[in-house]
Amino acid sequence: MEYEFDAIIIGSGINGISAAIQLQKNGLNTLVTEQAAEAGGSTRTEALTLEGFKHDVGSAIHPMAYASPFLKGLDLESHGLEWVFPEIAFSHPFADGTAISCYDDLEKTSNQLGDDKAAFEKLFQPLLDNWEDLEHDLLGPLGIPGHPLEFLKFGFKALPSAKMLTEHYFKNEKTRAFFYGAAAHSCLPMDKLASSSFGLVLSIMALKYNWPFPKGGASELIKALISYYRSIGGKIGYNRKVRSIKELPRSETYLFDLTPKQLLEIEGTEFSSLYKKRMSAYKYGPGVFKMDWALKAPIPFLNEDCRKAGTIHIGLSTEEIEQSEKLVDLGKMYDKPYVLLAQHSRFDNTRAPDNMHTAWAYCHVPHGCDDDQTKLIEDQIERVAPGFKELILARSTKNASALNRFNPNIIGGDINGGKQDISQLFTRPIAKLSPYATSNKRIYICSSSTPPGGGVHGMCGFHAAQKVLKDHFSV
Ligand SMILES: Cc1cc2nc3c(=O)[nH]c(=O)nc-3n(C[C@H](O)[C@H](O)[C@H](O)COP(=O)(O)OP(=O)(O)OC[C@H]3O[C@@H](n4cnc5c(N)ncnc54)[C@H](O)[C@@H]3O)c2cc1C
Repeated sequence: MEYEFDAIIIGSGINGISAAIQLQKNGLNTLVTEQAAEAGGSTRTEALTLEGFKHDVGSAIHPMAYASPFLKGLDLESHGLEWVFPEIAFSHPFADGTAISCYDDLEKTSNQLGDDKAAFEKLFQPLLDNWEDLEHDLLGPLGIPGHPLEFLKFGFKALPSAKMLTEHYFKNEKTRAFFYGAAAHSCLPMDKLASSSFGLVLSIMALKYNWPFPKGGASELIKALISYYRSIGGKIGYNRKVRSIKELPRSETYLFDLTPKQLLEIEGTEFSSLYKKRMSAYKYGPGVFKMDWALKAPIPFLNEDCRKAGTIHIGLSTEEIEQSEKLVDLGKMYDKPYVLLAQHSRFDNTRAPDNMHTAWAYCHVPHGCDDDQTKLIEDQIERVAPGFKELILARSTKNASALNRFNPNIIGGDINGGKQDISQLFTRPIAKLSPYATSNKRIYICSSSTPPGGGVHGMCGFHAAQKVLKDHFSV
């Protein structure tokens, strides 16, 4: 049978491009086809507010891209990528004007924690020491771990809920809230199993690498990847929404950077009814309400360290963060939602005109919720940075439906391609020895709905490509 391509990749998100690069690097003839007018999926930068301001529409802070074992090997700096390192990775402010900050230095971080200093070091030092071994087992499909003992030790800390872990390790309310700030990225209630895994991994990223981001916006990472892909002969086409396999050129394999719901809607896939049934049971998680601002001055955080941090976690006590995430899970909103905020322009003067600034933030909302959360988010920021609202020149908001229009993979506002609870953490999209393969031997799934899940790291695409290479090309 004559094929025009060895592999066609549908969708040019970070995972689609990563899969394409890994296949092309191994000598395959590949094509990426994208429905939008530009590449990147949720990793894109636009002038959402006023001319001269650059806002990351989706992902904004990229420690996982910086640390990704796959992306690290591509020397993207020689394709124009520049990393910006904020002075402090992330800060967590409190109502009394104090804050705890996470530095890329364990001791400097633990020195702020009083009675909890030793416990914080006991929790993180072994994980930092063994991270290079651990990351290979954690950033891929569940299998026989390469380093079983280290994997087991990580599992004991990562499988409990963030609530259990913090109550076991820490005495102080503020240390617990500080850990919750990273754990709540999971979009899980703090008493749900495995919520601590997100707090651990994201804190390790900060303690080891800082939380950097690309100079000029998230799109710059994608531009560097596309430049690399083209330099090795890869082809990419835009403005084509794939609805059926039959409309694509003939290819030995097809890799979909889509979530299960969308993949099931593609015609001509000839999936078995059992596979379709199991994929239909895939669960999506809460949504987000996303905001961007053009500001006439930097955010006036009460706490000086918050002014030096790239990311701020706003949830002023453990109770507030617990309530916020618990209610979202129950389909309701808390009036003081946990807010993730990034302030790129403090460290990257290409983001806004001289002396002006940008801010990026979101809060979690119930799945599919389209209510406007502007007031709740801005009120939360005002509590830790009085005077913030007076600095606003323009704002942009995106509810769940608007996010889905921006990128069809954001189902119901879910930014992680599916719920990341214990039942789906390692078994995305279904429990299967190779989660990237489908019931059709020529079709694969490579999006963040596969292990290791959401985030800009490209490891889902890399592992899917490895599976294609092994199954079809004996590499
Ligand atoms: C608001 C928001 C904030 C986030 N913050 C961060 C962060 O700070 N740090 C971080 O690491 N991660 C963050 N994330 C998560 C991260 O962006 C995603 O996990 C990641 O981008 C997923 O990449 P992907 O390649 O799997 O899919 P996507 O980026 O969703 O790409 C899928 C691509 O497929 C295309 N497509 C879909 N259907 C079709 C079709 N039928 N035909 C052709 N093309 C199609 C889409 O247009 C898109 O380009 C955030 C996401 C959002 C939305």
